Amino acid sequence: MAEDVLYIGRRGPGRGDPSVVIETAGGELLGILPDFRRTGDASTIEWGYGGRGPTELARNMLLHALGEDAVCWRCRGNGYLRTRADPNAPKGYVVEPYDPGDEPEPDFRPLCDNHRGCNEGYLRMPTHAFVERFLLHLSREPETEWRLSQAEILQWLHSDGIAAL
Ligand SMILES: [Zn+2]
Repeated sequence: MAEDVLYIGRRGPGRGDPSVVIETAGGELLGILPDFRRTGDASTIEWGYGGRGPTELARNMLLHALGEDAVCWRCRGNGYLRTRADPNAPKGYVVEPYDPGDEPEPDFRPLCDNHRGCNEGYLRMPTHAFVERFLLHLSREPETEWRLSQAEILQWLHSDGIAAL
């Protein structure tokens, strides 16, 4: 089993701008928690209350913790599908994942219709339940820190989290 990783949230001094870094359990820095939004503005992450910032942080943490398991199987993470004529298919066409590199650009590029809910190529996550369980009551005081392990997140996801969807 891979070494567990920790998500560490910190507030700076003064106004206490929030940031989340990822470290191994042994203390090696792996990087900043990535932003998984593909469109629009970058995520503004926050914690310590319920709202948009904590919801964005919840999504980023869940998608990072799940890795490949969070990628939508129907569109393979692209968020869109395409149709391709195929005389051997029962309907005369097949529906496939759209690839942004496709040449030529397909005429028809519907949004992914994954029934579990596809959000920009990722499966829908139980963000509100995650906020309530992990983020809602964290301190917003400057120069404070919290830690949450990937194992803890995945354990919650497979028990309460999936049920909250
Ligand atoms: Zn999809």
